Order: sequence, then C-alpha cells, then structure tokens
Amino acid sequence: MNNFEKQIAEASGEGLHSLNLGTLQVNVGLQCNQHCYHCHLEASPQRKEMMEWRTMELVLEAARSVRCQLVDLTGGAPELNPSFRRLIVALRQQGLFVQVRTNLTVLLEPNMDTMPEFLRDQQVQLVASMPCYLEENVRAQRGTGVYEKSIQAIKRLNGVGYGYESSLSLNLVYNPGGPFLPPPQPALEEDYRHELDNRFGIRFTRLLTITNMPLGRFRKELTRQNQEENYLELLRKSFNPLTLQGLMCRHQVTVGWDGTLYDCDFNAALGLAVNHGAPDHIRFFKAEDLWTRRIVTGEHCFGCTAGSGSSCGGALV
Ligand code: SF4
Ligand code: SF4
Repeated sequence: MNNFEKQIAEASGEGLHSLNLGTLQVNVGLQCNQHCYHCHLEASPQRKEMMEWRTMELVLEAARSVRCQLVDLTGGAPELNPSFRRLIVALRQQGLFVQVRTNLTVLLEPNMDTMPEFLRDQQVQLVASMPCYLEENVRAQRGTGVYEKSIQAIKRLNGVGYGYESSLSLNLVYNPGGPFLPPPQPALEEDYRHELDNRFGIRFTRLLTITNMPLGRFRKELTRQNQEENYLELLRKSFNPLTLQGLMCRHQVTVGWDGTLYDCDFNAALGLAVNHGAPDHIRFFKAEDLWTRRIVTGEHCFGCTAGSGSSCGGALV
C-alpha cells in the first residue's frame, strides 16, 4: 500500500473509488507547439502521438452510452489533431457539452485563423493556460514570446465573445512558478481581473488555480534543483481530507490518445491505466464497470489533496 492509500484509509477507512462519470476527458494527442518546463505530459512539437479517427468514433460511442455532462478535450495542443473539428461537430450533434483546454498560443499558428469563430459557433467552453499576469513569470515557465502571444490570443477570443457572453466561458489557469502551493483562488482571481483589464483591457470568466504535479518535466526540474523530496514532503504534509469528495478522478475517466483508459491525466502521464478489474481501453468501455471503480493512486496524488486541493477545474475547497 502506498502512502497515499494509507492516508485515504485513515480518512475514509477504504480505498479511493469513483462516484460518477460526469466528465469524459479525452487526450487527443501529445503534440504541442510549446515545450513548457512544468509539463507533466512532456508534450512538445516533436511528439507524434495523435488520436486517430477510429478511436474518436469509439469515444463518441462511449460518450453516448454514458450520457456524460461534459467532454473535456485536452492534449498537447488538442487543436493540432487533424480531426479536432470533426470530433467537436460530432459531439455537439450528439447534444454533448464540450470543453477545450487550449494553450492560447496555438491559436496564432498557421491554419488556425478561423478557430475562434469555429469554437464560438460550436458553443465550446474554453480553459486556457495563463500561469501569471506578469510577463517574466510566464516567460520563465513557458518560453520567450509566449506571454505576448497569449495576450494576443485572449484579445482575439474576447473579440468573438469569449469572456463576455455567459454561454462562452473563458477560464484561465494559474499554476505556481516553482515548488510551492497556489495562493487562494478567489483573491488571485481578483488580481488577474484587475491587472489584465488595466494592462490590456482583456476579460475572462474565472481563474482556476492548479498545483504543479511532481511528474514529467516539472519532476525532472525538481530533481535537477535537488528539490524533489522537499516538494513531495510539502504535498504530503498539506494533505486536506476535505478535498477527497471533489477529486477529479472520482467524477471522470480519461481516454488517452491511443484509447487507453486512465483515472486522470496525471495517471496517463505515468502510464498507470485504470485497474482493479475495470476495463482499461475504450474498446471495452462499459459505464457500469467504470462508475464505481477503485482508483489507481500513487505518491503523486498528494498533489491533488494539498491545501485547497487541485483539479482540472481548479481548487477543490
Ligand atoms: S503544459 Fe500545455 S502548453 Fe505546455 S507543453 Fe504541456 S501541453 Fe503544451
Ligand atoms: S492524481 Fe489522479 S488519481 Fe491521483 S488523486 Fe489526483 S486525480 Fe485522483
């Protein structure tokens, strides 16, 4: 039993189980136009892994069978998958709500000119990475020029109604610039709103704070700086049992680019497929076997339960 399982057993007397399948998260590929130092999936322009249409057809079938509230498309940069638009149109035709996790800068890449209008017309909700309102902090995490391009992309999205119209939400994502926990989400959201409006006249819907997971490139950087053990200890000692109810793995399943099923995107980064008897590939998707599955956990899970908690939807408490 790993330390997280022991902690869960103390808090609830049993292992971690899912509660529902409200969200189907789909990772459509690991290719990204960026190469961020904190990326838990180690996505980059060199990655070739990409979900094929025949796997997407199985996703459509699964989404239909489970009647989930939301299909959450992620990557890499999901917009780079050649079947990205086709998948969204098909999901929307099935009456499903769709959310896309965008890195913003991809919207300025070649052949993306009409993407904001397409997303608006399909009523897709957006979650966009914007780890700080200050240029130097974004540059340190995501590279030179990313801040300017991100601002340009937000302006473009504001221009078609994102962040303005209630049906077109544009949520920004903050993550810490190093091995520390995010500050309180509501106060930081106010700072973002004030600073981004004053500096650029741009608007967004909500700010989501996300803890850096000790995985992928972020973990390698921790190791390089000899900070790995200190960070893991910080996450462990910040365990908050109030976060357990909302953990995203308890309300979703993640489909990897090759159709493998994971409890979450972080387990996907580690190659830890769904287990404990539940189907582990979209080919065998059966909602009733996944609804109350036992979740595969590890030490990295302390990243979701530290402080106010962390999930793809921001703080948990
Ligand atoms: S963190 Fe996001 S934008 Fe950065 S490399 Fe990873 S997938 Fe791409
Ligand atoms: S890392 Fe994944 S499995 Fe672990 S607690 Fe977080 S969401 Fe759940």
